[in-house]
Amino acid sequence: MTTQEKKLNILFAASEVVPFAKTGGLADVGNALPKALNHLGHNAIVVMPAYKCVFNGGFELEETGIELEIPVGSKLVFGKILKSCLPGTDVPVYFVAQNDYFMRDGIYGNGRDYDDNCERFVFYARAVLELIRRLDHTIDVIHCNDWQTGLIPAIVKLENRPIGVDCETAVLMTIHNLAYQGVFWHWDMLLTGLDWRFFNWREMEFYGKLNLLKTGMTYADALSTVSPTYAEEIQTQEHGCGLEEVLRHRKNELKGIINGVDYGVWNPETDANLIASFNATNWKTEKPKCKAELQQIMNLPNESDVPLVGIIGRLAEQKGWDLIINMLNAWLPNADVQWVILGTGDAHFEKAISDLVYKYPTKISAQLTFSNELAHKIEAGSDIFLMPSRYEPCGLNQLYSLKYGTVPVVRETGGLKDTVTNASEQAIVDGSSNGFSFGEYSNEAMNDAMHRAILTYTDHKEVWNQIVENGMRQDWSWDHSATQYVELYHAMIDRLVENVANC
Ligand code: ADP
Repeated sequence: MTTQEKKLNILFAASEVVPFAKTGGLADVGNALPKALNHLGHNAIVVMPAYKCVFNGGFELEETGIELEIPVGSKLVFGKILKSCLPGTDVPVYFVAQNDYFMRDGIYGNGRDYDDNCERFVFYARAVLELIRRLDHTIDVIHCNDWQTGLIPAIVKLENRPIGVDCETAVLMTIHNLAYQGVFWHWDMLLTGLDWRFFNWREMEFYGKLNLLKTGMTYADALSTVSPTYAEEIQTQEHGCGLEEVLRHRKNELKGIINGVDYGVWNPETDANLIASFNATNWKTEKPKCKAELQQIMNLPNESDVPLVGIIGRLAEQKGWDLIINMLNAWLPNADVQWVILGTGDAHFEKAISDLVYKYPTKISAQLTFSNELAHKIEAGSDIFLMPSRYEPCGLNQLYSLKYGTVPVVRETGGLKDTVTNASEQAIVDGSSNGFSFGEYSNEAMNDAMHRAILTYTDHKEVWNQIVENGMRQDWSWDHSATQYVELYHAMIDRLVENVANC
C-alpha cells in the first residue's frame, strides 16, 4: 500500500462543533469535515470541551473512565473525558470535562471574554494530548483549528513529542478567521508550561503578549485556511492582522481549501424547517410558498413580486453592517424591496437595525437572536442574500443561498470571491453566473451590484432563473474539500517520513 492509500487516523481538535456548541462557521466545519473524512474511509475523531450547553443539550454522554490530571502553571487541574458521537453517525466525539473551566453560560465569554480563557484552553490543549496517550491506537494527523488549539503544535514540537504522538504524526493548523488570535498578557506564558525562551517574536510572542494562534502557526507542520483567496489575502498587510510576515514566511506550507456544505442539513429538498421542499426543477412553484411563510412570520406584507433580501450573520464590523445600514437608510424610504435580518452582536448595529424596523415596519423585519430554524427559513424564503463582508475567510451563508435558489450579492473577498461568479455580460452570455458581486468596499459599489440584481429579478426573469438554477445545481459538498484535506495530510506525513529517514 502506498502512503497515499493508507487509511488515516485523524484527531480533529475544535473548540466548537455542531450540534453541541456553536458561535460561527468553525462549528459547522467541526461536524461536517470529520463526517466527510469518515465517508472517505478514514477514521476521524473529534475532541472539544464539555461546555454547559453540551450537558444541557440532551445528548447521551458516556463515561470513558479517562481521568485527567493536567499541570496548568503551578496547579494540577483535574478533569475527565466523556464520549458521544456526531448525531446520526459513528464519528466519536470526546469531551474534555472540567467544571470550573467549562460549566459556564457562554463558550468564550458572557457579554465579554472570560479573563481565564488562556488557562481554559491551555488545559484543553494538554487534555487533547493526554487523550492521545490514552487511546489504544496511533494518531496520524492532529488537525488543530484556531487559537484555542494553538498550543497543541507547540507542545508536540517543544516537549519532544509527548507519548502517543510519534515522529510521523502530522500537525495541521487551520485558520478559520485570522482576526481572532487568542492574545493574552505575557504572564500567561507561565500557564503554558513552556520555557520562556520560546517567548520571542519568532515564536510565541506578539508585541509583548502571548499569541496562541501565532504559536500554532509557528510550530504546526503545515497551515491551511478556508479558501484559496483568503490564503493569499492574509499574506498582505491589509488582511494579515499583524501576522502577515509569519504567513509569508510559511507560504509554501499554507494551503487554502474551501469549506463545503453539509447537504444533509442544508438542502431545500429535505429541510424539515421549510413549509415546502424544492429543488432546481420545481423551485418556481415551491419556493414562493417559503417566501410567503417567511413574510408571514416576519410580519411583512404578503407580496410575492416584491424582491425579498435576506441577511444572516454576526453583527460584527467584518460582515459589512455599516454598508448595509447606510443602504437601508437610503433604500427603505423609496425602494420597493423587503428586508429580513437575522443576527446578534454589536449593540450599536442592533440599535440601528431596531430603529429602522420601528420606522419602516412594512419593509424591514429583524430577529436579533440566534435561531437556526429561522436561518433555514430565510435562506429558503428570500430572493436575494446580501453579504458585503469586509473580509470573509470562506463564508457559508452564500453557499447555503446557492443551494436554496437565493441569489447571493457579495463583495469579492476571500471565499465569497472563490464561490460567487458575478453576472457580468460575458457570464450571462456563457451561462456561468451564479450571483452578483462587487469589488470596492463602498456603498457606491454595493448599490450598483444590488441595482443590477433587483433589475434582473424584476425585468429579466429568464436571466434571473438561469442564475438561480446555476447556483442550485452546483455542488459545494464536503466530498471535494475533504479529499483536498486528505491530500494535504498525506503530503505532510510524507514530508515527516522523509525527514525522519534523513535524520
Ligand atoms: P462566521 O463563521 O464568520 O460567523 P459563516 O458564514 O462562515 O460566518 O458562518 C456563520 C454560520 O452561523 C452560518 O451557518 C450562519 O447561518 C450561522 N449564523 C450566524 N448568525 C446566526 C443567527 N443569528 N442565527 C442563526 N444562525 C446564524
